[in-house]
Amino acid sequence: MKKNLRNFIGWLFAVFFISTGFARRIKKRAKSGEFILSVFFHDPSKEIFEYCIKWLLKNKFVFLTQNDLIAISNQKKPFPKNAVIITLDDGWKDNLDNVVKVANEYKVPVTIFISTEPVQNGVYWWSYIEAGNKNKLINTDVEFYKTLPNDERVAEVKKIKDKIVLNREAMTSTQVMEIAAQDFITIGGHTVTHPILTQCSYEDVYNELNDSKKTLENWINKPVYSFAYPNGSYGDREAGILKELNYNIAHTTKAAYLNQASLQNILELPRFFVIENTSKAEALCRMLGIWQRFFD
Ligand SMILES: [Zn+2]
Repeated sequence: MKKNLRNFIGWLFAVFFISTGFARRIKKRAKSGEFILSVFFHDPSKEIFEYCIKWLLKNKFVFLTQNDLIAISNQKKPFPKNAVIITLDDGWKDNLDNVVKVANEYKVPVTIFISTEPVQNGVYWWSYIEAGNKNKLINTDVEFYKTLPNDERVAEVKKIKDKIVLNREAMTSTQVMEIAAQDFITIGGHTVTHPILTQCSYEDVYNELNDSKKTLENWINKPVYSFAYPNGSYGDREAGILKELNYNIAHTTKAAYLNQASLQNILELPRFFVIENTSKAEALCRMLGIWQRFFD
C-alpha cells in the first residue's frame, strides 16, 4: 500500500513534468548534441525496460556501445546528436527475459556489468541483510552495512548466510557465456563480491577488480574493458587501479548528463538511474534526468 501510494504520487509529478514540456525540452537538447543520455537499470520489469527502449526508438535516439563512447572520447568519432547509452548493473537473472530479449528484438546495444561471485553463488549480499531483517535475525538496514569496513561487513553477512538459504537471483555463468556471444550485449566488470570499494583495503580493491576481470574473460572469451562502480562508490584510488588493469571506461552513479566535458573523465562517466517497479511516466522522467533535478 505504501509503495502504491508512493508510485501514485510519483506518477502525478511525472505526468506534470511531461505535460508542462520538460520532456520535450530535454529531447530538444539531446537532439542539438548538447549531451548523450546515459541511463542505467538494475533489474527492470520487461514492461518498463521495453517502454523506455520503444520511447527512445520512437524519438530516433542512436544507441551507443562502450566502444562508441571510447572512440568519441578519443575524438575518433564526432560527439553524436540524439544519442543514448544503456547499461545495467549486477547481472540479475531476470535480465535474460526482460532486457536481453528486448535488446535483441529491437536490435539495440546494451552493456551488463556483472559481479562474478553472485553468478557463482546465486545471491547478492544485500539480499541476506534484507532476509535477516525479515526473519528478525538483525535490525539494521542495508545502508548501514554499506558504511562498515569491508571485512566487518563480510563477517556480518556470513553470520546470516549460515542461517538462511535464498533462491538464485543472479544469472549463471553459462547464461553469462550465452548472452556475451550475442550481437547486442557487452559484458562489463562490476567486481567479484560487489563490495563498497571505498570501504576496502588497497589489496582488496585490486583483487576485486583484477579477479573479476579474469573470471569474466575466462567465461566469455572476450576482453572485459568496461566497468561500473558498485553502489557508485569510488575515488582516485579505484580509478587508478582500473587504469592499471586496462579497464578503458567506467561508469558512476552520478546523476548528470554525459556531455563533452564529462567524457574527458572516461573512468567517471555519469548515469541516470531508472528504478524498478515504477510507473512508465516516472521511468521516462528518470531516464531523461528530469526527476533527478527535483528529487533524490
Ligand atoms: Zn551493482
